[in-house]
Amino acid sequence: MDPQTHFSPTFGEARQKFLAAADAAGARLRAIPHPLAGPDGSPLATDVAVLGPPEATRRLVLISATHGVEGHCGSGVQVALLRSGALNDLPTDLAVVLVHAINPHGFAWTRRVTEDNVDLNRNFVDFSGPLPENPAYDLLFDAINPPSLSPEIMAAARETLRAYSSANGAMAMQAAVSSGQYRHADGVWYGGSQPTWSRLTLEEIARRELAGATSVAAIDFHTGLGPFGYGEIITELAPDDPLFALAQAWYGDGVTSTVSGNSTSARLTGTMDGGLARALAPAWLSYVALEFGTRPTSVVLDAVRQDNWLHLHGDLASEQGKAIKALIRDAFYPDEDAWRTAVLERASAVVSRALQGLASRVGSSAA
Ligand SMILES: [Zn+2]
Repeated sequence: MDPQTHFSPTFGEARQKFLAAADAAGARLRAIPHPLAGPDGSPLATDVAVLGPPEATRRLVLISATHGVEGHCGSGVQVALLRSGALNDLPTDLAVVLVHAINPHGFAWTRRVTEDNVDLNRNFVDFSGPLPENPAYDLLFDAINPPSLSPEIMAAARETLRAYSSANGAMAMQAAVSSGQYRHADGVWYGGSQPTWSRLTLEEIARRELAGATSVAAIDFHTGLGPFGYGEIITELAPDDPLFALAQAWYGDGVTSTVSGNSTSARLTGTMDGGLARALAPAWLSYVALEFGTRPTSVVLDAVRQDNWLHLHGDLASEQGKAIKALIRDAFYPDEDAWRTAVLERASAVVSRALQGLASRVGSSAA
């Protein structure tokens, strides 16, 4: 089978391929319906497929579409794994849990965010306590979220961000924009004011499909940062954390840390790893994001900002609306065979290492 066909141009097609491939592989399937519909009126859902013994104490979780539109990549990887038979002969006492489209609304609508404009990977904070502050974002709000896409206003916004970057460094600018913010519900990289449907759904999956596990490894598939087609293994762990050393032992020296600053990602707030760890406690969790590079960071940032403007002020059916949708889709899913081939090679190698690492873990000992 042509490996390119594992990937899909729409959420609906991706979902059908996933369900068919999971069924053919003998997986146990559960659909979790989303309350809203896709742009064509079709239903949305997160689907969970489980392979291996239900009582396994070791589970590998593979998550797609945390950032909606990035699901073209993660879904393609999941379908490829199911179709290839790579998950057929699992080590003893190990099950694989595939979570297809944890943010189905964003996937279907070609958006990075959820239906409530929330960045799911910033939403895992304790909303009963003080929320993380991002004063640089507050300062740069109008430049990050321009009120108009007119050439003059966009040029001025870019100049403001460029000046901030040259004064404080490119990573400080990237952190201001993308580390997460909890004040501006209409802005990009918004972490929300309460747990989103997708967060609650993931927590429910942790209680249902991961119950009884004592050792869990998770790979969350992302796109949009780093060199074209390269898959960076990113953790939110400090370099002296034993889990970081373990991630390096499993996946190699290329594992990066947003805390130490050697990642292409800025240090983030409210990320999924912490939320999943709390939902699974006291089980042990090794969580990594596998982030595939696409286009230059400035292009990706611009696409996210324009998409936010479109949904706030624009018309999805207009020529401009269609152009912005094409832009954001390309920023997170380059429609190129070479990119998809690189993604599949890297992803299958990383999944294979996770299976080996998890299989080598004995019982429920601490990290
Ligand atoms: Zn992402």
